[in-house]
Amino acid sequence: MKRTTTYGNKNNSKKKYIWIGASVVVIIAAVIAVFIYLNQNDEKNQNAEPAPAEEEKAGQEETAKTEEKSSTATNEEEPTEPKDQQSQEEQPLENGGYIEGQVLPTEPTIVEGVVIANKKYPLPSTYAPGESESARNAFELMAKDAREAGFELVAFSTYRSFEYQDTLYNNYVNRDGKENADRYSARPGYSEHQTGLAFDIGEKGKEDLWLTEEFGETEAGKWLVENAYKYGFILRYPKGKEAITGYMYESWHYRYVGLHLAAEVKEAGVTLEEYLGIE
Ligand SMILES: [Zn+2]
Repeated sequence: MKRTTTYGNKNNSKKKYIWIGASVVVIIAAVIAVFIYLNQNDEKNQNAEPAPAEEEKAGQEETAKTEEKSSTATNEEEPTEPKDQQSQEEQPLENGGYIEGQVLPTEPTIVEGVVIANKKYPLPSTYAPGESESARNAFELMAKDAREAGFELVAFSTYRSFEYQDTLYNNYVNRDGKENADRYSARPGYSEHQTGLAFDIGEKGKEDLWLTEEFGETEAGKWLVENAYKYGFILRYPKGKEAITGYMYESWHYRYVGLHLAAEVKEAGVTLEEYLGIE
């Protein structure tokens, strides 16, 4: 009886050790699995371009809503993954395309009468012209003609203040990290929307295509590409020009530059930077 008990105890402690050993193995395996998973996700994030939509989408929404969403990560309105064939092979620009340690100027850069706002030529934080009246009038005229052609255009995001851009950009950095945020959202002082001359355009009734590449494939998107210059607008961030403009293709972002320059840029088939020689 005693022996049995002793044996039983031994057996029990043996079982105990096996149990502990097994637990340790399971825990280690779990840690390794989590590690591999996180690594894969990291790679994915590096390869994938973030949804072009995000900056601008949130532009229409209240900041509070954006913040709330940042904790829930993915949802249909604000996809965190590209919706379509983003150029996976394109690498993010070094330092997001910005000049290291650059300080915002006290005066805007104006080249041939054009106010410049890009990653090399930022605006003063105090630059706050509001939405351009000329740009608005031109847009309304364009929208009127588009309506006759069968499209109801909407300018869903135009002027954005320095402060608003600051909040917006920092929300994206907190959510997606700086490297990713830099590909689709401008740092405060660097957004063309601060000039009051940039209009994000979509089609009424097709809100799901706002801020997507697909908008460029629609009849309305194609009509804009062909006709916007007649009203003084240019497609600001064309396909394959990220190295020059600092931004991936944005089918919705148009910049008002006036009739003459818009026609010239369209005719030349180049970006604004290339046309003005400020690459
Ligand atoms: Zn825009």
